[in-house]
Amino acid sequence: MKSNQVQLKSRPEGMPAKENFQTAEVEIGEIKDGQFAVKNEWLSVDPYMRGRMKDTESYVEPFALGKAMEGGCVGKVVESKNDDFPEGSWVLGNQGWRDLWISDGQGVVPIDTEQAPASAYLGVLGLTGMTAYVGLMEIGALKEGETVFVSAASGAVGSIVGQIAKIHGCKVVGSAGSADKIAWLKEKAGIDEAFNYHDVDDVSAKLKELCPDGIDVYFENVGGDHLQGAIDNMSEGGRIAACGMISGYNDEKPQPGPNNLFKIIGKRIRMQGFIVRDHMDLQEEFIGKMSGWIKEGKIHWEETITEGLENAPDAFIGLFEGDKLGKALVKL
Ligand code: NDP
Repeated sequence: MKSNQVQLKSRPEGMPAKENFQTAEVEIGEIKDGQFAVKNEWLSVDPYMRGRMKDTESYVEPFALGKAMEGGCVGKVVESKNDDFPEGSWVLGNQGWRDLWISDGQGVVPIDTEQAPASAYLGVLGLTGMTAYVGLMEIGALKEGETVFVSAASGAVGSIVGQIAKIHGCKVVGSAGSADKIAWLKEKAGIDEAFNYHDVDDVSAKLKELCPDGIDVYFENVGGDHLQGAIDNMSEGGRIAACGMISGYNDEKPQPGPNNLFKIIGKRIRMQGFIVRDHMDLQEEFIGKMSGWIKEGKIHWEETITEGLENAPDAFIGLFEGDKLGKALVKL
């Protein structure tokens, strides 16, 4: 069998470019007893992949040069010698950025496409949705009726954060990078206030105007002036769930830290980083709740779809250009 792959060719410096990737056709052999072959239908592109392109020590290994990129994927079993993964069944794996792969089932999960569309298992019902749930409920320790600020609010994670907080009777304020995104947040996601950070000189002053009684939970996706502004406006006993800081991912020199960090002392703020994969014990609870909310029509989600494996690098680069709404996916 042959697999078409998108590989990392060189490590980006600053903003990733198409030249950092290459396509290759690779011989992957035939399936043996206990194995099965999967044809990918959907690939996920995610901001965390930028971190894995750097050859630095991190919570996860860097991507290898000249090897297929990895990442969440959903596909159909096309040939099988494993009874747990019969031909025609749908699976979720981490063998992204290629059209065909062989597995013995380790780390591969069967999915039910009657329950939800296949692509939802990479977004709202997958680790993306779970990141929102874990960050808000477990790390942010959200209570009914609190005030929540979420940055990158129209993105894959942020768009779910705002809606989960609304289900819990919270006031929700979000930031995003275009007028269309702001309209979607208010009209479709139903959050209370949203602002376009490109139109705002002073995020801190904007948050003061929108959250006069303070922010109880800040769901941090962006860093930089968003973190600085949130700290200024946190309530006493507020929690910051540090999920990501995308504004610095392509910086060649680290950003200066917020110069108001001392405020976390007087305000007794707890700021905690988290990695969703450390909380897999909450997956069953999350899937149960999220499936229920979806059935009740309480959660809306958007997908920005790029067609074709060879265009996966464009879809990935688009994450940093702010030209997409909701979950970024590649359709093969
Ligand atoms: P998104 O779908 O939100 O895509 C990223 C979004 O970030 C873009 O749509 C863009 O929207 C915004 N953005 C990009 N550059 C900037 C910038 N310089 N300043 C402000 N906003 C910017 O990605 P995800 O929802 O998948 O991820 C959101 C965050 O969560 C990321 O930081 C990611 O690394 C992190 N994450 C962490 C996990 C964990 O386990 N800790 C798991 C999954 C994600 P806009 O138009 O609004 O600028």
